[in-house]
Amino acid sequence: MLPHTPQFESALEILATLRVSGYEAYLAGGCVRDLLLDREPEDYDVATSATPDVVLGLFPRTIAVGAHFGVVLVADEVAGPEDSRGPEHPTEVATFRSDGVYSDGRHPDEVRYTTLAEEDVRRRDFTINGLLLDALRAADSFATPEALRSAVIDHVGGLADLDAGVIRAIGQPERRFEEDQLRLLRAVRFAARFGFSIEPATHAAIRRHAARIHAVSRERVRDELTKMLTEGHARRAFELLDQTGLLAQVLPEVAAMKGVEQPPQFHPEGDVWIHTLLLLEQLQAGCPLTLAWGALLHDVGKPPTFRRAERIRFDGHVEVGVAMGAEICRRFRFSNDETRQILALIQNHMRFADAGRMKASTLKRFFRLESFDQHLALHRMDCLAASGNLDHWDFVRQGYEAMPEEAVRPRPLVTGRELIAAGYTPGPRFKEMLRMVEDAQLEGVIATPDEAMNLVGERFPLG
Ligand code: ATP
Ligand code: MG
Repeated sequence: MLPHTPQFESALEILATLRVSGYEAYLAGGCVRDLLLDREPEDYDVATSATPDVVLGLFPRTIAVGAHFGVVLVADEVAGPEDSRGPEHPTEVATFRSDGVYSDGRHPDEVRYTTLAEEDVRRRDFTINGLLLDALRAADSFATPEALRSAVIDHVGGLADLDAGVIRAIGQPERRFEEDQLRLLRAVRFAARFGFSIEPATHAAIRRHAARIHAVSRERVRDELTKMLTEGHARRAFELLDQTGLLAQVLPEVAAMKGVEQPPQFHPEGDVWIHTLLLLEQLQAGCPLTLAWGALLHDVGKPPTFRRAERIRFDGHVEVGVAMGAEICRRFRFSNDETRQILALIQNHMRFADAGRMKASTLKRFFRLESFDQHLALHRMDCLAASGNLDHWDFVRQGYEAMPEEAVRPRPLVTGRELIAAGYTPGPRFKEMLRMVEDAQLEGVIATPDEAMNLVGERFPLG
């Protein structure tokens, strides 16, 4: 029932130290929720009546991370710096506090320490995140779920909501979302992650306050969305974002996919939104964020290019989608590397159908795309979300797997230096010449440096 990991043991030791020094101390928040759900917590948070000064004095290895929020990181006493369990997973020890007003919608203006655990719990976001665990009480008898539950301190009805599968704001939902708008997204994220419903009054408050999400920094919105996309329940998360009105606020380009019809012969599943949801449903927990965002955005160019001709057409949707993807990546402050890969996934998602007709050089350059496995994965999801026909995917995958690395990226037969030695003047034409040689090499027309230089002489006569 309880994990026997070094992190958990370390958290227990910290609780014990605080207790013998005369303070109250509990495991708190997400880790208690996870233990009750029989999921291994990512990290352990301790809530205590001891003030940060006291905590800093009690433990030899500490970092005062958020001193003004009353948070101190405590590293394992016995672990040396070379120990792998060392400082990477310290326990967060936070002094009981009751947060004041959040006038900027993000940070409490003042933090007031309290000695009352109940006050600390009431400032937390959702009932399932507001549980305390008296983990020292018979820590070794936690072999049964009942023993674990009996050591839970529940001031907010979190146990019942955990049992019923409900995300419910602690206190008055309206006020809680007015205090901190990040909670709007957190509600959706937890509901999707655990397959829970959002309690009606909480849901209604999210809908009413959805437009306030813009008070949250773009980076934090991005990080929340990325978690939703990569935790294995992306479809559910995006359905909830839609139902709560948050999607139209944070990703209007994706909300616009709703009701955009597609030609039924290629897309029997329905409109662009349904198709996208069917891709999101396939995203595995732990998948690369670029793949996840690529899947979300691959058809983002369809709504603005929708046209009824002899059939429904989306001419230019790839190029328009890349431009829109670039704007979205800029808006969410993705890194250059992430942006490049997300855009490459949008840019290349229609090319698989042409692979059978590609020249060898074109196909090999296609295989050279960075993280080609992500392109393969996206195309597979795209097919399964539509016709279900995997012929193109299979063709490309087999070709890719069968092709040795030296065939995809052979050593160049000629470099600029040899061109200079042969009497050519360096300039913009070099690129063209080298590309021509590489094409011939990838096509299998030439295989040696001599053949390459002969070809250069033919196509680009000197003098
Ligand atoms: P995760 O598994 O995603 O880390 P978590 O519940 O542990 O989920 P954290 O962001 O690590 O979430 O926060 C730890 C705890 O702090 C939460 O369980 C909750 O009690 C409290 N908390 C975090 N963010 C907020 C917030 N924005 N408003 C109120 N309480 C919060
Ligand atoms: Mg956490």
